[in-house]
Amino acid sequence: MNEKIGLCWLRDDFRIKKNFALSEATKNHKRVVAFYLFKSNQYKKQEAQQWWISKSLQDFTTQLNNLNIKLEIIKTESYKHFFEKLILKKNFSIYWNKVYEPNYLKFDIYLSKIFEKKNIHNKIFKGNILNEVWEIKKEDGTPFKVFTPFWRRAEKYYLEKIPSSDKKIIKCKKKISFFKNSLNYNDILPNKSWVNKFKENWHPSEENALKELKKFIENSIENYSEQRNYPYILGTSKLSPFIKHGQIHVETIWEECVKKKDKKISKFLAEIGWREFNHSLINNFPYMLKGNYSKKFDKFPWEKNLKLLSFWKKGLTGYPIVDAGMRELYKTGWMHNRVRMIVGSFLVKHLLIDWREGEKHFRNCLLDFNEANNVSGWQWVAGCGADAAPYFRIFNPILQGEKFDKEGKYVRKWVPELKNIPNKFIHKPWEFKNEKVFNLERDYISPIVNHEKARVKALNAFKKI
Ligand SMILES: Cc1cc2nc3c(=O)[nH]c(=O)nc-3n(C[C@H](O)[C@H](O)[C@H](O)COP(=O)(O)OP(=O)(O)OC[C@H]3O[C@@H](n4cnc5c(N)ncnc54)[C@H](O)[C@@H]3O)c2cc1C
Repeated sequence: MNEKIGLCWLRDDFRIKKNFALSEATKNHKRVVAFYLFKSNQYKKQEAQQWWISKSLQDFTTQLNNLNIKLEIIKTESYKHFFEKLILKKNFSIYWNKVYEPNYLKFDIYLSKIFEKKNIHNKIFKGNILNEVWEIKKEDGTPFKVFTPFWRRAEKYYLEKIPSSDKKIIKCKKKISFFKNSLNYNDILPNKSWVNKFKENWHPSEENALKELKKFIENSIENYSEQRNYPYILGTSKLSPFIKHGQIHVETIWEECVKKKDKKISKFLAEIGWREFNHSLINNFPYMLKGNYSKKFDKFPWEKNLKLLSFWKKGLTGYPIVDAGMRELYKTGWMHNRVRMIVGSFLVKHLLIDWREGEKHFRNCLLDFNEANNVSGWQWVAGCGADAAPYFRIFNPILQGEKFDKEGKYVRKWVPELKNIPNKFIHKPWEFKNEKVFNLERDYISPIVNHEKARVKALNAFKKI
């Protein structure tokens, strides 16, 4: 056992199970300290996630206390500054798990070098992914740009690999502190009241992630392919915020699903596959984090319209399914995937607003925000991504509503102004003429754009590129 202190840098890995860096630290050291670096400037644009992180730190502090490991939260505006100071101390070794974003992976290389120069033992482990992002390539060594062949190869590769063993975390002899000025998890709660309501729907912890997974496998996975598109039923796992923050490892999800021994799990695992594909994309084509994957969209004539953007953000577009989605997002920090596609399409195709505005808003409001899925999801919707929906396929928000929320259950939940509208009109309330029950201007809002006109305008804009 090493007499030095074992440090474990936590990022998106608030879990005990399959936390490879933490288990290695406890294997090698009698005394281990875990730390989380809080960059307040980053979370100004990720308020929802700031809430999740504070709650996760609260729970994980207790989990680690039971193992005699102190979790210290350090505020810093720059990782680089923090580590330049840290290497001046020499009484430690350090371990962390990868986060699959190009900046993080680049920083890992830099960090490893500066530790090695100072003879500080450091080791980086596999993060929350099935295959490392560089492992899945075409025969000619180039990255996949289309999902189906990517996933065919990735699934096979994963199955043939020896799975990562779940090493135990060993209880430390004694709990110690390492850093000065460590914060309390409450100190990093965002200073915004809108996030307070998340506690009604979410309880961030590893224990709850595992419970939710088991519940989903027991009750819903068999019907996942049929039910996943209907936002008024609980047809999906709602695991995304837990996965993002590493409360559950995707290998654990895989292992629990295959225990079911049912072919029907494959549709669900393919969605985990989309997450793998998106991580592969942003690492192989990092320019897409800031701009269009498909360069021809650089000339797209986006329109700047702050008023329309604000109606969209507030769920006041006059299209019930769009408004329901935007309000669900604001109230719960999450939105159903089908509705993410509908509201996204409405922003970029009906309002002709640049997908980056939508990406920014989701980044701030989603508890599950991650760069790979958000940027790729938005570019998929806008038509400028890899293997994306073609731009000319424009979702009709009325028909989408009628197809996926036939009886308006989802809409009535989030847009209560429409609760008395008969099903027939729930997705086109402007056609319901009964002054006593409902008046469009008084009780709701007229559509901010006309669907047919907006469609023609979008198609004309597309012709320009
Ligand atoms: C415009 C847009 C933005 C999006 N932004 C994000 C984001 O920031 N973070 C995020 O995790 N997902 C994002 N998605 C993908 C998807 O909507 C969510 O992953 C999904 O709704 C999460 O709900 P769930 O956990 O119940 O999913 P389930 O259907 O239960 O799927 C299980 C897991 O598979 C992964 N997954 C599912 N669908 C997708 C998908 N289409 N693409 C990639 N991975 C998927 C997620 O990790 C999810 O938790 C976005 C989609 C769109 C259209």
